[in-house]
Amino acid sequence: MLVVMKAHATPEEVRAVCQKIESIGYRAHTIPGAERTAIGVTGNKGEIEPGTLDEMAGVQEVIKVTKPYKLVSRDCKQENTVITFPGTDATFGGKGLAVIAGPCSIESREQAFIIAERVHAAGAQFFRGGAYKPRTSPYSFQGMEEEGLRIMAEIRDKFGLKIVTEAIDHESLALVEEYADVIQIGARNMQNFSLLKRAGRSRKPVLLKRGMAATLEEFLMAAEYVMSEGNYNVALCERGVRTFADHTRNTLDLSIVPAVQRLSHLPILVDPSHGTGKRNKVTPLSRAAVAVGADGLIIEVHHDPDKALSDGMQSLYPEQFEELMTQVRQIAPVVGRTVPAIGIHAPAASIAAKPVGNQLGRAL
Ligand code: PEP
Ligand code: MN
Repeated sequence: MLVVMKAHATPEEVRAVCQKIESIGYRAHTIPGAERTAIGVTGNKGEIEPGTLDEMAGVQEVIKVTKPYKLVSRDCKQENTVITFPGTDATFGGKGLAVIAGPCSIESREQAFIIAERVHAAGAQFFRGGAYKPRTSPYSFQGMEEEGLRIMAEIRDKFGLKIVTEAIDHESLALVEEYADVIQIGARNMQNFSLLKRAGRSRKPVLLKRGMAATLEEFLMAAEYVMSEGNYNVALCERGVRTFADHTRNTLDLSIVPAVQRLSHLPILVDPSHGTGKRNKVTPLSRAAVAVGADGLIIEVHHDPDKALSDGMQSLYPEQFEELMTQVRQIAPVVGRTVPAIGIHAPAASIAAKPVGNQLGRAL
């Protein structure tokens, strides 16, 4: 259910409606808009009598949201969500494209610094690297864990890059939220509902990757889990789905970008590295992702991919990433986007993203 307030409703009236909602056992999510405030009502106790809220001061109308996803939907919030990162002009969902680059896994301090220096110089504003790796085989490299997180925090201090890294369970999430700027929830955990709820109680933005067989609705419902717990800074990421095709590791479903944008206000990024699994396809699909209107790219880069401990086959060499950025700079203006200038991000005074506010769509 959605309570739409009148354009000139006072903050006190908004607060009174929220209190009423909470007093009857539901959760109220305040959603400020350009024109007026809306209040999303969630809870699993069934419907509220519409008359309960209809008559309150400042209320314009009470609407039943028929879609299963509510806070995620454009019915709830028309304006795009823009996630901002203090100390930089980087955003998820703003005019500028978000460029996230780095190795699949943090393997050593030296490896991480070599790659960070190159991707920073080429214009990435975010550094990615797995410290906790969800691997198909228990015998494959599982990540450097907290040591990997510490290395990435050093990289933020040195280059001003914001850190995006995956949490695979409650324990790693507690550490990831301490060290990183963005909590990545991977494809394999897209429907780990307990982890999604835990991420929803975090005060750091969440990058939620699409499960490898997830429908659009399942994907949006996963984001709804995070938002329903009060974390409204969620960005989605298409990373390919499993199909019969065997010329790529996954099939990158770029059509989901406009599909998401139609239904949801959340940013949607694209990961052509996992989406294709093959180095030679990453640049062409990155170009296509920008052209289709994605809000950003997440790209695996390694200076010595033959020796990488994970996903070397799909990692670009730093020179290839530089070339990709040159191409992206030419395509982005065609779709009204800008691309970060080369390596201008000052070594940050910022240590980590500030806590998020408790209002939907508010800047960090
Ligand atoms: C990753 O980003 O390294 C990763 C494991 O991605 P995904 O969850 O999309 O497979
Ligand atoms: Mn990977």
